[in-house]
Amino acid sequence: MFYHCDTKVEKKYDVIVIGSGLAGMTAANKLARDGRSVLLLEAHAKLGGYATWFHRQDHVFDVSLHGFPFGMKKTCKKYWSREIADSIVPLDEVRFINPQFELSTKYDKVDFIKILNEKFGVTLETAQSFFDELEGMNFFDDRAILNRDLFEKYFPGRNDIVRLLMEPIVYANGSTLEDEAITYGIVFSNFMSKGVYVYKGGTDQMIKKMQKIMLDNSVDILVRALVDKVIVENGVVKGVIVDGHPIYSDAVLSNGNIKTTVLDMVGENHLSEDFKKKTEGVRLNTSSCQVYMGIRKGEKIDFMGDLIFYSDSEKFSSDELLSPEIHSQTFSVYYPDMRPHRGDRYTIVSSSNARFEDWENLTEDAYLDKKKFLEKRALDVIEKLVPGITEKIDFIESATPTTFKRYAHHQKGSSFGTKFEGLDVSMNLHKEVKGLFHAGSVGIIMSGWLGTANYGIIQSHEISNYLDK
Ligand SMILES: Cc1cc2nc3c(=O)[nH]c(=O)nc-3n(C[C@H](O)[C@H](O)[C@H](O)COP(=O)(O)OP(=O)(O)OC[C@H]3O[C@@H](n4cnc5c(N)ncnc54)[C@H](O)[C@@H]3O)c2cc1C
Repeated sequence: MFYHCDTKVEKKYDVIVIGSGLAGMTAANKLARDGRSVLLLEAHAKLGGYATWFHRQDHVFDVSLHGFPFGMKKTCKKYWSREIADSIVPLDEVRFINPQFELSTKYDKVDFIKILNEKFGVTLETAQSFFDELEGMNFFDDRAILNRDLFEKYFPGRNDIVRLLMEPIVYANGSTLEDEAITYGIVFSNFMSKGVYVYKGGTDQMIKKMQKIMLDNSVDILVRALVDKVIVENGVVKGVIVDGHPIYSDAVLSNGNIKTTVLDMVGENHLSEDFKKKTEGVRLNTSSCQVYMGIRKGEKIDFMGDLIFYSDSEKFSSDELLSPEIHSQTFSVYYPDMRPHRGDRYTIVSSSNARFEDWENLTEDAYLDKKKFLEKRALDVIEKLVPGITEKIDFIESATPTTFKRYAHHQKGSSFGTKFEGLDVSMNLHKEVKGLFHAGSVGIIMSGWLGTANYGIIQSHEISNYLDK
Protein backbone atom coordinates (compact mmCIF):
# COMPACT_ATOMS: atom_id res chain seq x y z
CA MET A 1 0.00 0.00 0.00
CA PHE A 2 1.13 3.56 -0.66
CA TYR A 3 0.04 5.88 2.14
CA HIS A 4 0.24 9.65 2.64
CA CYS A 5 1.19 11.41 5.83
CA ASP A 6 -2.25 11.73 7.35
CA THR A 7 -2.61 7.92 7.54
CA LYS A 8 -2.28 6.54 11.07
CA VAL A 9 -0.65 3.16 10.58
CA GLU A 10 -1.88 0.70 13.23
CA LYS A 11 -0.42 -2.57 11.92
CA LYS A 12 2.70 -4.05 13.57
CA TYR A 13 5.52 -4.89 11.13
CA ASP A 14 8.51 -7.21 11.14
CA VAL A 15 10.67 -4.30 9.98
CA ILE A 16 10.29 -0.53 9.72
CA VAL A 17 12.75 1.19 7.37
CA ILE A 18 13.34 4.88 8.08
CA GLY A 19 14.27 6.64 4.84
CA SER A 20 14.03 5.72 1.17
CA GLY A 21 17.59 6.33 -0.02
CA LEU A 22 19.07 3.57 -2.16
CA ALA A 23 20.15 1.67 0.96
CA GLY A 24 16.72 1.90 2.60
CA MET A 25 14.80 0.95 -0.53
CA THR A 26 17.11 -1.93 -1.47
CA ALA A 27 16.91 -3.36 2.06
CA ALA A 28 13.12 -2.90 2.21
CA ASN A 29 12.67 -4.69 -1.10
CA LYS A 30 14.98 -7.58 -0.16
CA LEU A 31 13.31 -8.11 3.22
CA ALA A 32 9.84 -8.05 1.64
CA ARG A 33 10.94 -10.50 -1.05
CA ASP A 34 12.12 -12.76 1.77
CA GLY A 35 8.61 -12.73 3.22
CA ARG A 36 8.97 -10.09 5.95
CA SER A 37 6.29 -7.47 6.48
CA VAL A 38 7.95 -4.11 5.83
CA LEU A 39 6.93 -0.48 6.27
CA LEU A 40 9.07 2.15 4.51
CA LEU A 41 8.81 5.65 5.99
CA GLU A 42 10.04 8.64 4.01
CA ALA A 43 10.09 12.26 5.15
CA HIS A 44 9.61 13.50 1.57
CA ALA A 45 6.74 13.16 -0.86
CA LYS A 46 8.94 11.18 -3.23
CA LEU A 47 11.36 8.29 -2.78
CA GLY A 48 15.08 8.09 -3.59
CA GLY A 49 16.87 10.34 -1.08
CA TYR A 50 19.83 11.92 -2.86
CA ALA A 51 19.06 9.72 -5.88
CA THR A 52 16.63 12.35 -7.04
CA TRP A 53 15.53 14.66 -9.83
CA PHE A 54 13.40 17.74 -10.29
CA HIS A 55 11.40 19.52 -12.98
CA ARG A 56 11.89 23.24 -13.74
CA GLN A 57 10.30 24.99 -16.71
CA ASP A 58 10.34 22.24 -19.33
CA HIS A 59 13.59 20.66 -18.05
CA VAL A 60 14.26 17.57 -15.92
CA PHE A 61 17.47 17.65 -13.86
CA ASP A 62 19.24 14.74 -12.18
CA VAL A 63 21.00 15.49 -8.91
CA SER A 64 23.31 12.53 -8.33
CA LEU A 65 23.43 10.72 -11.66
CA HIS A 66 27.00 11.53 -12.72
CA GLY A 67 28.29 8.01 -12.65
CA PHE A 68 28.75 4.84 -10.66
CA PRO A 69 30.71 1.62 -11.16
CA PHE A 70 29.58 -1.34 -13.28
CA GLY A 71 28.78 -3.31 -10.09
CA MET A 72 25.47 -1.41 -9.88
CA LYS A 73 24.26 -3.41 -12.89
CA LYS A 74 24.84 -6.70 -11.06
CA THR A 75 23.27 -5.40 -7.85
CA CYS A 76 20.18 -4.17 -9.68
CA LYS A 77 19.82 -7.39 -11.65
CA LYS A 78 19.97 -9.51 -8.50
CA TYR A 79 17.98 -7.37 -6.08
CA TRP A 80 15.70 -5.23 -8.30
CA SER A 81 14.96 -6.37 -11.86
CA ARG A 82 16.57 -7.24 -15.15
CA GLU A 83 14.76 -4.28 -16.72
CA ILE A 84 16.47 -1.84 -14.33
CA ALA A 85 19.84 -3.53 -14.83
CA ASP A 86 19.46 -3.37 -18.62
CA SER A 87 19.07 0.41 -18.47
CA ILE A 88 22.49 0.81 -16.86
CA VAL A 89 24.88 1.91 -19.62
CA PRO A 90 28.49 3.09 -19.80
CA LEU A 91 29.55 6.69 -20.38
CA ASP A 92 31.42 7.15 -23.65
CA GLU A 93 33.96 9.76 -22.63
CA VAL A 94 35.37 11.18 -19.41
CA ARG A 95 37.54 14.29 -19.87
CA PHE A 96 40.12 16.01 -17.70
CA ILE A 97 40.89 19.68 -18.36
CA ASN A 98 43.39 21.36 -16.05
CA PRO A 99 46.70 23.26 -16.25
CA GLN A 100 48.68 20.02 -15.75
CA PHE A 101 47.08 17.95 -18.52
CA GLU A 102 44.12 17.53 -20.85
CA LEU A 103 42.93 14.08 -21.83
CA SER A 104 39.92 11.92 -22.64
CA THR A 105 39.46 8.40 -21.33
CA LYS A 106 37.05 5.48 -20.97
CA TYR A 107 38.09 5.58 -17.29
CA ASP A 108 39.04 1.93 -16.99
CA LYS A 109 42.18 0.09 -15.98
CA VAL A 110 43.39 -0.80 -19.48
CA ASP A 111 43.12 2.82 -20.61
CA PHE A 112 44.64 4.17 -17.39
CA ILE A 113 47.71 1.92 -17.57
CA LYS A 114 48.21 3.11 -21.15
CA ILE A 115 47.78 6.77 -20.16
CA LEU A 116 50.12 6.43 -17.15
CA ASN A 117 52.72 4.87 -19.40
CA GLU A 118 52.44 6.94 -22.59
CA LYS A 119 51.41 10.34 -21.22
CA PHE A 120 52.95 10.39 -17.76
CA GLY A 121 56.07 8.28 -18.42
CA VAL A 122 55.35 5.67 -15.73
CA THR A 123 56.77 2.23 -16.47
CA LEU A 124 54.24 -0.50 -17.21
CA GLU A 125 55.60 -2.47 -14.22
CA THR A 126 54.98 0.42 -11.79
CA ALA A 127 51.50 1.08 -13.15
CA GLN A 128 50.64 -2.62 -12.92
CA SER A 129 52.07 -2.89 -9.37
CA PHE A 130 49.94 0.09 -8.30
CA PHE A 131 46.79 -1.59 -9.57
CA ASP A 132 47.85 -4.92 -8.05
CA GLU A 133 48.19 -3.27 -4.63
CA LEU A 134 44.74 -1.67 -4.93
CA GLU A 135 43.11 -4.90 -6.00
CA GLY A 136 44.81 -6.86 -3.22
CA MET A 137 43.72 -4.43 -0.51
CA ASN A 138 41.97 -6.16 2.33
CA PHE A 139 39.37 -4.33 4.35
CA PHE A 140 40.56 -5.87 7.63
CA ASP A 141 44.33 -5.57 7.17
CA ASP A 142 45.01 -2.41 5.24
CA ARG A 143 43.54 0.43 7.24
CA ALA A 144 46.77 2.10 8.28
CA ILE A 145 48.15 3.42 4.99
CA LEU A 146 46.83 6.81 3.86
CA ASN A 147 46.16 7.95 0.29
CA ARG A 148 49.07 10.38 0.49
CA ASP A 149 51.49 7.52 1.38
CA LEU A 150 50.05 5.23 -1.27
CA PHE A 151 50.66 7.75 -4.08
CA GLU A 152 54.09 8.71 -2.75
CA LYS A 153 55.10 5.03 -2.79
CA TYR A 154 54.41 4.57 -6.51
CA PHE A 155 54.59 8.08 -7.96
CA PRO A 156 56.87 10.16 -5.69
CA GLY A 157 56.54 13.92 -6.21
CA ARG A 158 54.06 13.50 -9.10
CA ASN A 159 51.21 15.85 -8.25
CA ASP A 160 49.91 15.51 -11.82
CA ILE A 161 49.49 11.74 -11.44
CA VAL A 162 47.85 12.18 -8.05
CA ARG A 163 45.39 14.53 -9.77
CA LEU A 164 44.59 11.97 -12.47
CA LEU A 165 44.09 9.18 -9.95
CA MET A 166 42.49 11.05 -7.10
CA GLU A 167 40.43 13.96 -8.45
CA PRO A 168 37.41 11.93 -9.68
CA ILE A 169 37.33 9.96 -6.42
CA VAL A 170 37.31 13.17 -4.37
CA TYR A 171 34.13 14.03 -6.27
CA ALA A 172 32.84 10.45 -6.07
CA ASN A 173 33.08 10.02 -2.30
CA GLY A 174 34.64 13.11 -0.76
CA SER A 175 37.85 11.36 0.26
CA THR A 176 41.06 13.33 0.74
CA LEU A 177 44.78 12.59 0.72
CA GLU A 178 44.57 12.16 4.52
CA ASP A 179 41.92 9.42 4.36
CA GLU A 180 42.63 5.70 4.64
CA ALA A 181 43.83 4.38 1.27
CA ILE A 182 41.48 1.41 1.59
CA THR A 183 38.53 3.77 1.02
CA TYR A 184 40.16 5.09 -2.14
CA GLY A 185 41.36 1.66 -3.27
CA ILE A 186 37.94 -0.01 -3.13
CA VAL A 187 36.03 2.77 -4.89
CA PHE A 188 38.71 3.48 -7.54
CA SER A 189 39.11 -0.25 -8.31
CA ASN A 190 35.33 -0.56 -8.66
CA PHE A 191 35.33 2.18 -11.30
CA MET A 192 38.47 0.88 -13.01
CA SER A 193 36.96 -2.58 -13.55
CA LYS A 194 34.79 -1.36 -16.43
CA GLY A 195 34.46 2.42 -16.43
CA VAL A 196 31.68 4.78 -15.42
CA TYR A 197 28.00 3.87 -15.77
CA VAL A 198 24.71 5.77 -15.58
CA TYR A 199 21.01 4.95 -15.65
CA LYS A 200 19.55 5.56 -19.11
CA GLY A 201 16.06 7.01 -18.74
CA GLY A 202 17.01 9.22 -15.80
CA THR A 203 16.76 8.95 -12.03
CA ASP A 204 12.98 9.51 -12.12
CA GLN A 205 12.40 6.41 -14.24
CA MET A 206 14.64 4.25 -12.06
CA ILE A 207 13.07 5.31 -8.76
CA LYS A 208 9.55 4.94 -10.13
CA LYS A 209 10.39 1.39 -11.26
CA MET A 210 11.86 0.61 -7.83
CA GLN A 211 8.75 1.98 -6.13
CA LYS A 212 6.52 -0.27 -8.25
CA ILE A 213 8.66 -3.34 -7.51
CA MET A 214 8.48 -2.64 -3.76
CA LEU A 215 4.70 -2.26 -3.87
CA ASP A 216 4.43 -5.48 -5.92
CA ASN A 217 6.47 -7.19 -3.18
CA SER A 218 4.02 -5.85 -0.56
CA VAL A 219 6.26 -3.19 1.00
CA ASP A 220 3.96 -0.62 2.62
CA ILE A 221 5.19 2.92 1.89
CA LEU A 222 4.28 6.02 3.89
CA VAL A 223 5.56 9.34 2.56
CA ARG A 224 5.78 12.76 4.23
CA ALA A 225 6.49 10.78 7.37
CA LEU A 226 9.40 12.21 9.36
CA VAL A 227 10.43 9.83 12.12
CA ASP A 228 11.07 11.72 15.36
CA LYS A 229 12.12 8.89 17.63
CA VAL A 230 13.02 5.22 17.66
CA ILE A 231 11.16 3.48 20.49
CA VAL A 232 13.59 1.55 22.71
CA GLU A 233 12.58 -0.42 25.82
CA ASN A 234 15.16 -2.15 28.00
CA GLY A 235 17.75 -1.98 25.24
CA VAL A 236 15.44 -3.50 22.61
CA VAL A 237 13.84 -1.66 19.68
CA LYS A 238 10.03 -1.64 19.59
CA GLY A 239 9.18 0.71 16.72
CA VAL A 240 9.22 4.40 15.84
CA ILE A 241 7.30 7.58 16.48
CA VAL A 242 6.03 9.59 13.51
CA ASP A 243 4.30 12.85 14.23
CA GLY A 244 3.59 11.76 17.80
CA HIS A 245 2.08 8.46 16.66
CA PRO A 246 3.82 5.14 17.53
CA ILE A 247 4.19 2.43 14.90
CA TYR A 248 5.46 -0.91 16.21
CA SER A 249 7.88 -3.43 14.70
CA ASP A 250 10.34 -6.15 15.73
CA ALA A 251 13.26 -4.48 13.96
CA VAL A 252 14.06 -1.00 12.64
CA LEU A 253 16.52 -0.11 9.90
CA SER A 254 17.50 3.55 9.75
CA ASN A 255 18.66 4.95 6.43
CA GLY A 256 18.99 8.40 7.99
CA ASN A 257 22.23 10.06 8.95
CA ILE A 258 24.07 7.76 11.39
CA LYS A 259 24.80 10.50 13.95
CA THR A 260 21.19 11.74 13.90
CA THR A 261 19.93 8.16 14.17
CA VAL A 262 21.99 7.35 17.24
CA LEU A 263 22.19 10.65 19.09
CA ASP A 264 18.77 12.14 18.29
CA MET A 265 16.35 9.39 17.24
CA VAL A 266 17.57 6.88 19.87
CA GLY A 267 18.93 9.35 22.42
CA GLU A 268 21.75 9.10 24.91
CA ASN A 269 19.72 7.53 27.72
CA HIS A 270 19.68 4.29 25.71
CA LEU A 271 23.41 4.33 24.93
CA SER A 272 26.53 3.28 26.76
CA GLU A 273 28.98 6.11 27.39
CA ASP A 274 31.50 4.45 25.10
CA PHE A 275 29.10 4.12 22.14
CA LYS A 276 27.84 7.67 22.61
CA LYS A 277 31.42 9.02 22.59
CA LYS A 278 32.30 6.94 19.53
CA THR A 279 29.26 8.30 17.67
CA GLU A 280 29.97 11.89 18.66
CA GLY A 281 33.52 11.45 17.37
CA VAL A 282 32.44 10.34 13.88
CA ARG A 283 33.53 12.95 11.33
CA LEU A 284 31.08 13.93 8.62
CA ASN A 285 32.06 14.00 5.00
CA THR A 286 31.90 17.28 3.09
CA SER A 287 28.95 18.60 1.08
CA SER A 288 28.37 19.84 -2.49
CA CYS A 289 27.23 22.73 -4.61
CA GLN A 290 25.53 22.21 -7.95
CA VAL A 291 24.49 24.39 -10.87
CA TYR A 292 21.69 23.11 -13.13
CA MET A 293 21.62 24.47 -16.69
CA GLY A 294 18.84 23.75 -19.19
CA ILE A 295 19.33 24.10 -22.93
CA ARG A 296 16.40 25.80 -24.71
CA LYS A 297 14.04 23.43 -26.55
CA GLY A 298 15.00 23.19 -30.22
CA GLU A 299 18.70 24.04 -29.61
CA LYS A 300 21.39 21.40 -30.08
CA ILE A 301 24.92 21.07 -28.71
CA ASP A 302 27.76 19.01 -30.13
CA PHE A 303 29.17 16.11 -28.12
CA MET A 304 31.77 17.46 -25.69
CA GLY A 305 32.22 14.39 -23.45
CA ASP A 306 29.85 13.02 -20.82
CA LEU A 307 31.70 13.90 -17.65
CA ILE A 308 34.30 16.65 -17.52
CA PHE A 309 36.67 17.24 -14.60
CA TYR A 310 37.60 20.88 -15.00
CA SER A 311 40.06 22.86 -12.89
CA ASP A 312 42.10 26.00 -13.34
CA SER A 313 44.21 25.32 -10.23
CA GLU A 314 47.87 24.92 -11.11
CA LYS A 315 48.26 22.01 -8.68
CA PHE A 316 45.92 19.39 -7.29
CA SER A 317 44.95 19.47 -3.64
CA SER A 318 41.87 17.82 -2.17
CA ASP A 319 41.44 20.82 0.13
CA GLU A 320 41.43 23.25 -2.78
CA LEU A 321 38.52 21.34 -4.33
CA LEU A 322 36.41 22.59 -1.40
CA SER A 323 37.23 26.27 -1.96
CA PRO A 324 34.23 28.60 -2.26
CA GLU A 325 36.15 30.26 -5.12
CA ILE A 326 35.25 27.16 -7.19
CA HIS A 327 38.47 26.69 -9.11
CA SER A 328 37.47 23.08 -9.76
CA GLN A 329 34.17 21.58 -10.80
CA THR A 330 32.70 18.74 -12.82
CA PHE A 331 30.25 19.01 -15.68
CA SER A 332 27.83 16.19 -16.44
CA VAL A 333 26.34 16.67 -19.87
CA TYR A 334 23.03 14.90 -20.50
CA TYR A 335 22.32 14.43 -24.23
CA PRO A 336 18.95 13.44 -25.74
CA ASP A 337 19.77 9.72 -25.43
CA MET A 338 19.67 10.02 -21.61
CA ARG A 339 15.89 10.51 -21.72
CA PRO A 340 14.93 9.41 -25.25
CA HIS A 341 11.23 9.59 -24.29
CA ARG A 342 11.55 13.40 -23.90
CA GLY A 343 12.87 14.06 -27.40
CA ASP A 344 15.82 16.25 -28.30
CA ARG A 345 16.62 17.73 -24.87
CA TYR A 346 19.96 18.60 -23.23
CA THR A 347 20.85 19.57 -19.67
CA ILE A 348 24.16 20.23 -17.95
CA VAL A 349 24.85 19.85 -14.24
CA SER A 350 27.98 21.28 -12.70
CA SER A 351 29.09 19.99 -9.27
CA SER A 352 31.72 21.11 -6.83
CA ASN A 353 32.66 19.90 -3.37
CA ALA A 354 31.83 22.35 -0.59
CA ARG A 355 31.91 22.92 3.16
CA PHE A 356 28.65 23.48 5.00
CA GLU A 357 30.42 26.05 7.19
CA ASP A 358 30.97 28.31 4.15
CA TRP A 359 27.21 28.49 3.52
CA GLU A 360 25.50 28.44 6.92
CA ASN A 361 24.58 31.57 8.88
CA LEU A 362 24.66 33.90 5.86
CA THR A 363 22.16 36.72 5.51
CA GLU A 364 19.66 36.08 2.74
CA ASP A 365 21.38 38.65 0.52
CA ALA A 366 24.82 37.17 1.12
CA TYR A 367 23.48 33.69 0.40
CA LEU A 368 21.86 34.79 -2.86
CA ASP A 369 25.02 36.65 -3.90
CA LYS A 370 27.07 33.53 -3.29
CA LYS A 371 24.64 31.47 -5.35
CA LYS A 372 24.91 34.02 -8.17
CA PHE A 373 28.70 33.69 -8.05
CA LEU A 374 28.39 29.91 -8.24
CA GLU A 375 26.14 30.13 -11.28
CA LYS A 376 28.30 32.74 -13.02
CA ARG A 377 31.40 30.64 -12.44
CA ALA A 378 29.72 27.58 -14.02
CA LEU A 379 28.52 29.65 -17.00
CA ASP A 380 31.96 31.24 -17.52
CA VAL A 381 33.66 27.87 -17.59
CA ILE A 382 31.13 26.13 -19.84
CA GLU A 383 31.31 29.12 -22.23
CA LYS A 384 35.09 28.72 -22.31
CA LEU A 385 34.69 25.02 -23.16
CA VAL A 386 31.96 25.53 -25.77
CA PRO A 387 31.89 29.15 -27.04
CA GLY A 388 28.32 30.36 -27.63
CA ILE A 389 26.65 27.80 -25.40
CA THR A 390 25.41 30.36 -22.85
CA GLU A 391 23.03 31.78 -25.42
CA LYS A 392 21.37 28.38 -25.65
CA ILE A 393 20.81 28.11 -21.89
CA ASP A 394 17.32 29.27 -20.89
CA PHE A 395 17.29 28.07 -17.29
CA ILE A 396 19.85 28.14 -14.49
CA GLU A 397 19.48 27.30 -10.79
CA SER A 398 21.85 26.19 -8.06
CA ALA A 399 21.91 24.09 -4.90
CA THR A 400 24.22 24.49 -1.91
CA PRO A 401 25.14 22.50 1.22
CA THR A 402 22.10 23.99 2.97
CA THR A 403 19.87 22.67 0.18
CA PHE A 404 21.33 19.19 0.59
CA LYS A 405 20.93 19.31 4.38
CA ARG A 406 17.30 20.32 4.05
CA TYR A 407 16.63 17.71 1.40
CA ALA A 408 18.05 14.47 2.85
CA HIS A 409 18.32 15.49 6.53
CA HIS A 410 22.05 14.81 6.59
CA GLN A 411 23.98 16.78 9.18
CA LYS A 412 25.95 19.56 7.49
CA GLY A 413 24.46 18.50 4.15
CA SER A 414 27.06 15.74 3.95
CA SER A 415 26.98 14.30 0.41
CA PHE A 416 28.79 11.07 1.23
CA GLY A 417 27.90 10.34 4.85
CA THR A 418 30.83 10.01 7.18
CA LYS A 419 34.52 9.33 7.29
CA PHE A 420 35.85 5.81 7.81
CA GLU A 421 35.02 5.51 11.55
CA GLY A 422 31.27 5.92 10.84
CA LEU A 423 31.17 2.39 9.45
CA ASP A 424 32.08 0.88 12.81
CA VAL A 425 29.24 2.72 14.59
CA SER A 426 26.78 1.82 11.83
CA MET A 427 27.68 -1.87 11.76
CA ASN A 428 27.64 -2.26 15.55
CA LEU A 429 24.48 -0.31 16.29
CA HIS A 430 22.43 -3.50 16.63
CA LYS A 431 24.78 -4.67 19.40
CA GLU A 432 24.06 -1.46 21.33
CA VAL A 433 20.30 -1.42 20.75
CA LYS A 434 18.91 -4.86 19.92
CA GLY A 435 16.87 -4.88 16.72
CA LEU A 436 18.10 -1.46 15.50
CA PHE A 437 20.18 -1.45 12.34
CA HIS A 438 21.61 1.23 10.06
CA ALA A 439 22.32 1.27 6.32
CA GLY A 440 23.30 4.27 4.21
CA SER A 441 26.29 6.45 3.39
CA VAL A 442 28.98 5.77 5.97
CA GLY A 443 32.69 5.11 6.07
CA ILE A 444 33.27 6.44 2.52
CA ILE A 445 33.16 2.84 1.25
CA MET A 446 29.42 2.43 1.79
CA SER A 447 28.49 5.55 -0.13
CA GLY A 448 27.45 6.39 -3.66
CA TRP A 449 24.66 4.55 -5.44
CA LEU A 450 26.50 1.22 -5.50
CA GLY A 451 27.95 1.38 -1.98
CA THR A 452 24.62 2.24 -0.36
CA ALA A 453 22.56 -0.27 -2.37
CA ASN A 454 25.02 -3.02 -1.44
CA TYR A 455 25.07 -1.93 2.19
CA GLY A 456 21.27 -2.19 2.24
CA ILE A 457 21.61 -5.84 1.20
CA ILE A 458 24.31 -6.56 3.80
CA GLN A 459 22.14 -5.13 6.57
CA SER A 460 19.00 -6.90 5.35
CA HIS A 461 20.83 -10.20 5.98
CA GLU A 462 21.71 -9.04 9.51
CA ILE A 463 18.07 -8.14 10.12
CA SER A 464 16.87 -11.51 8.85
CA ASN A 465 19.30 -13.27 11.21
CA TYR A 466 18.01 -11.17 14.10
CA LEU A 467 14.36 -11.85 13.27
CA ASP A 468 15.05 -15.59 12.91
CA LYS A 469 16.48 -15.65 16.41
C1 LIG B 1 25.26 16.41 -5.20
C2 LIG B 1 25.49 14.95 -5.10
C3 LIG B 1 25.96 14.24 -6.19
C4 LIG B 1 26.18 12.88 -6.10
N1 LIG B 1 26.60 12.20 -7.21
C5 LIG B 1 26.73 10.86 -7.16
C6 LIG B 1 27.08 10.11 -8.32
O1 LIG B 1 27.25 10.64 -9.41
N2 LIG B 1 27.22 8.77 -8.20
C7 LIG B 1 27.02 8.12 -7.03
O2 LIG B 1 27.16 6.90 -6.99
N3 LIG B 1 26.68 8.79 -5.92
C8 LIG B 1 26.52 10.14 -5.95
N4 LIG B 1 26.16 10.83 -4.84
C9 LIG B 1 26.01 10.11 -3.58
C10 LIG B 1 24.77 9.26 -3.55
O3 LIG B 1 23.69 9.95 -4.13
C11 LIG B 1 24.48 8.88 -2.12
O4 LIG B 1 25.64 8.31 -1.52
C12 LIG B 1 23.36 7.86 -2.00
O5 LIG B 1 22.29 8.14 -2.88
C13 LIG B 1 22.92 7.89 -0.56
O6 LIG B 1 21.98 6.89 -0.32
P1 LIG B 1 21.53 6.57 1.14
O7 LIG B 1 20.92 5.21 1.10
O8 LIG B 1 22.63 6.78 2.11
O9 LIG B 1 20.34 7.55 1.47
P2 LIG B 1 20.11 9.10 1.25
O10 LIG B 1 20.14 9.41 -0.18
O11 LIG B 1 20.95 9.86 2.18
O12 LIG B 1 18.59 9.20 1.70
C14 LIG B 1 18.17 9.11 3.02
C15 LIG B 1 16.66 9.25 3.01
O13 LIG B 1 16.19 9.12 4.34
C16 LIG B 1 15.20 10.11 4.59
N5 LIG B 1 15.21 10.39 6.01
C17 LIG B 1 16.25 10.82 6.77
N6 LIG B 1 15.88 10.97 8.04
C18 LIG B 1 14.57 10.62 8.10
C19 LIG B 1 13.62 10.56 9.15
N7 LIG B 1 13.91 10.90 10.40
N8 LIG B 1 12.35 10.14 8.85
C20 LIG B 1 12.01 9.79 7.58
N9 LIG B 1 12.89 9.83 6.54
C21 LIG B 1 14.14 10.24 6.81
C22 LIG B 1 15.64 11.29 3.75
O14 LIG B 1 14.57 12.16 3.48
C23 LIG B 1 16.18 10.61 2.50
O15 LIG B 1 15.17 10.40 1.55
C24 LIG B 1 25.94 12.20 -4.88
C25 LIG B 1 25.45 12.91 -3.78
C26 LIG B 1 25.22 14.26 -3.88
C27 LIG B 1 24.67 15.01 -2.70
